[in-house]
Amino acid sequence: MKFQAIKGVRDILPPESGLWNRVEQAARDVFHTYGYGEIRLPIFEPTELFARSVGLDTDIVSKEMYTFADHQLRDIEVFGGMISKRRVSKEELSLVAMQTYMREFLRQIDLSREDHMFPETPENVAAVAELKTALHQFEKIVNEEGFRDKDVLASLIDVMQSQADGIHLGDVITLRPEATASVVRAYIEHGMHTRPGNVKLYYMGPMFRRERPQKGRYRQFYQIGAELLGPSDHPALDAEVIEMLLAFVARVNLTGAKLYINSIGDKNCRPAYVERLRGELQKVRDKLGADSQRRIETNPLRVLDSKLPEEQPIIDKLPHIADHLCDACREHYAELKRQLALRKIEYQENWRLVRGLDYYMRTTFEITAPGLGSQNAVCGGGRYDGLVELLGGPAATKGIGFAIGTDRLMLSLQEAGAAAKCALDVYIAWMGVQAYPAVVALARKLREHDFSVELPPQEMKFGKSLSLADRLGARFAVIVGEDELAARQFTVKRLADGDQRRLAEADLLEYLTKSRTA
Ligand code: AMP
Repeated sequence: MKFQAIKGVRDILPPESGLWNRVEQAARDVFHTYGYGEIRLPIFEPTELFARSVGLDTDIVSKEMYTFADHQLRDIEVFGGMISKRRVSKEELSLVAMQTYMREFLRQIDLSREDHMFPETPENVAAVAELKTALHQFEKIVNEEGFRDKDVLASLIDVMQSQADGIHLGDVITLRPEATASVVRAYIEHGMHTRPGNVKLYYMGPMFRRERPQKGRYRQFYQIGAELLGPSDHPALDAEVIEMLLAFVARVNLTGAKLYINSIGDKNCRPAYVERLRGELQKVRDKLGADSQRRIETNPLRVLDSKLPEEQPIIDKLPHIADHLCDACREHYAELKRQLALRKIEYQENWRLVRGLDYYMRTTFEITAPGLGSQNAVCGGGRYDGLVELLGGPAATKGIGFAIGTDRLMLSLQEAGAAAKCALDVYIAWMGVQAYPAVVALARKLREHDFSVELPPQEMKFGKSLSLADRLGARFAVIVGEDELAARQFTVKRLADGDQRRLAEADLLEYLTKSRTA
């Protein structure tokens, strides 16, 4: 049997992973200079956290999350699945089958109770008791009068079904599709609002979304993100967050990146705009695709995200949110633009930039990069002032942040020619058993000085050794044979040009160290 990575996930191998490390280190370095500290978050969270924050009408929550029940009660779950949410047919056969499943469902629950595995919450205890009573009644009727009164039996099944649906076997959890919700959860859980000043956090790691895989879009992908939480929503903070993002972009030499900004209003002005948008969309409903038609009801803003060519002329004529901002939002947006200009940050406004997640308000921004085809957004972010309160934290806390799609950033960097440098500094070619103790000691010494060293476990003919050193991409070969041992020296060969010299250990170290900075 041959195993392969699951569709939509992939391995990142050296030397490419070296480039990833460099990029991640650049993020750490740059974010540090802006006062951000790393937060390490769990990979899974209660499903409810994402449903609440990201929003039920988003693609992420409605169809892309990896969600599962976190318990070991498989048998109960299987029978629960067989009896739940089924239309009760009044056929005798179907009533008999339901009766059997119910019995088995309860039997499995009793078994798990004996093992103390069943969650004895008041709700579960009550539901099981009612289920038992209803089943008892059902069986009594069947024993006394058979399946004559099917209406009564069906309604008892109905009762049992809803009780069964109310039984919770464990937590429902989800592999995180994004990390802002987790950061806010942690912020509230640890009472971080009591910390002085703004709380500035960054994270990096994998996210999971069941999307259709294509170039730049994976089911396990990586993000580097930063969040600023605190009492102020001053636009200078928005501008500084964007400045930090661009400092990172510059540090990793991402060329051709473009910044787009927008304001999507707040709870005072957005609802009226959304209603207006809905009204306009209803007028052109017939010309829209199925997705956009659905979104007229669920989330009209998302129509602006549409990439369908035939919808573009229609969308172009829709009202712009900038014309419908309340005074406070308009002033906030104007000040953001002033703050960006002050920092000499170039941007383009994109009135259609609404972002797919529910929690955003006012400032939204995105960065695109070349070389990525249709999936050209490498970073998305925005302000989310209501989110802390929505998740049960103090209402006064405001927030802003972004998430960089690391996979796409890497693709763009690689398209532009970035390659991981060869990691191997020194290959030690040795012959003769007497040489071995000397080369083991040398390898250790060089490694203590941070050189990466390859030491073959067995002696090899010099020709073979040097050819391997070449193929491994080593920068230097150090050659140790009888002559070198006798002279207490090492021969070092620079593989790029064949330059070769004999040096004592201290000189060798100095020579290699100098070559590192050259
Ligand atoms: P979002 O959390 O949807 O705002 O995404 C932020 C950034 O993460 C995007 O701009 C992308 O660069 C990246 N991203 C989102 N989904 C995926 C995916 N499925 N595969 C790769 N990168 C992604």
